[in-house]
Amino acid sequence: MSSVGAAFAAPMFFGVCRRATRKQAAIMRFAYYDRLSPSRKRVYRKSDGIEALALPPDVMPGLDIIGLRAALSAEDRTEAQRRCQRIVDALTSGYRVPPIRVRVLAQRPADGYGELHGLYEPAETGTPARISVWMRTARKRHVVAFKSFLRTLCHELCHHLDYELFALEETFHTEGFYKRESGLANALLASDAGQPPIR
Ligand SMILES: [Zn+2]
Repeated sequence: MSSVGAAFAAPMFFGVCRRATRKQAAIMRFAYYDRLSPSRKRVYRKSDGIEALALPPDVMPGLDIIGLRAALSAEDRTEAQRRCQRIVDALTSGYRVPPIRVRVLAQRPADGYGELHGLYEPAETGTPARISVWMRTARKRHVVAFKSFLRTLCHELCHHLDYELFALEETFHTEGFYKRESGLANALLASDAGQPPIR
């Protein structure tokens, strides 16, 4: 989508996250890398080198994944938010990182660059980190497909983990970042095994 260039042009001090396809992500990897300072390039390469992210031991969010899918289907924002919060609480607790407040909002905001999928705001003194995700697309106001919604939630959580688990000074969109996002999303989807296919 047209928004990708803008989203990837800047490093991530906080996560204004639009969606890149895998191909776009690969191309974008070096679009801003060359402009980074040597120390920031080191952070980028460190991020790029971490390719795997599994569920923490003993975290079994399957029922909440099922509940989230049902809540999206029913267009129940309150329930979707409750399920997202439970999933994120289980993950942050399992990874032993500080908690995150999750907000599920109605319609994605859009600007000249496209629509926002998710937003990550790191913790500030006295305020925990926050993730915002939106249930409906900006243009047609359709409910976001479950798998895409879950991937966005994982994407934003990965920004948090960059700081809190991997102790990176910044959180960049790198190929490694997308592999971690993908690994986590797939693990969550697999915890829903045996249920009807996901849209
Ligand atoms: Zn992002």
